[in-house]
Amino acid sequence: LTEYTIEENKIAELDRLRISYNKMLIRLSESFETQRQFTGNAAHELRTPLTLIQAQLDLYHTTEHPESTAVAEETIQMVTEQNERLSKLVRTLLDMSELQTVSRNDRIELHSLIEEVLTDLEPLAQEKNVELIQKTQNLRDEKAENKTADLILTGSDILIYRMLYNLVENAIKYNHTDGNVTVSAVRMKNTVVLTVADTGNGIEESFREQIFEPFFRIDKSRSRQLGGVGLGLALVREIVRVHDGTIEVHGNEQGGTTFEITMGL
Ligand code: ADP
Repeated sequence: LTEYTIEENKIAELDRLRISYNKMLIRLSESFETQRQFTGNAAHELRTPLTLIQAQLDLYHTTEHPESTAVAEETIQMVTEQNERLSKLVRTLLDMSELQTVSRNDRIELHSLIEEVLTDLEPLAQEKNVELIQKTQNLRDEKAENKTADLILTGSDILIYRMLYNLVENAIKYNHTDGNVTVSAVRMKNTVVLTVADTGNGIEESFREQIFEPFFRIDKSRSRQLGGVGLGLALVREIVRVHDGTIEVHGNEQGGTTFEITMGL
């Protein structure tokens, strides 16, 4: 925000306005920073007890407990599941608070990265018999005649992977059985347009802004059942923002949803 402060103005009234405006920007910026630090610190503090609980549960699961009752087993199972959910939530909160400090100078080969994301999510897709399709643009490598060049983006390798992973994971989770997910990266002038399209139920127009808010879920119980904590798209939006990109959501011809991200090359 502090990058948007206004330069000095010769007209006294305008200059007074400029000073107030700049002060407001600085205060807002400081307040965002405090909020970010609080989230990071809280998540850090929560991580230790959660890891300890997890270690105890892992230990419990490695040994037999013939004396245990069905009720006790059920309780342990419930605690294990909830602990996993909480750990996932805390990890994502930490990731979000650390976004600004991650280096964004990696040379990312986009087609290879998409392939990696799809390979990693193939087991989840198979559970629902969802087909994962990668559409690649044929770019000729000028140096090597027969080779197809990859699209190169400069940014954070880890974050761009995470962004695509979250979008494709959602596209599978909120899809129909036997549906499909198509991912593409296309160069347009000095930008790259990344799209993730699914054949799910689609997202009502009135929700298309809200889905990016932390903890917002259209159907809370469905999301919970699918292991969601409601932070996936909030993280995607932040990753797009730190890369100076834009993200749009559209309905598509299959009745599903298409997420479209544009980033400068
Ligand atoms: P969650 O952990 O619940 O998946 P997200 O932040 O990733 O959280 O997504 C927020 C909500 O947006 C989801 O709960 C779901 O209702 C909706 N959503 C996200 N992606 C899709 C999609 N591809 N199709 C339909 N609904 C989606």
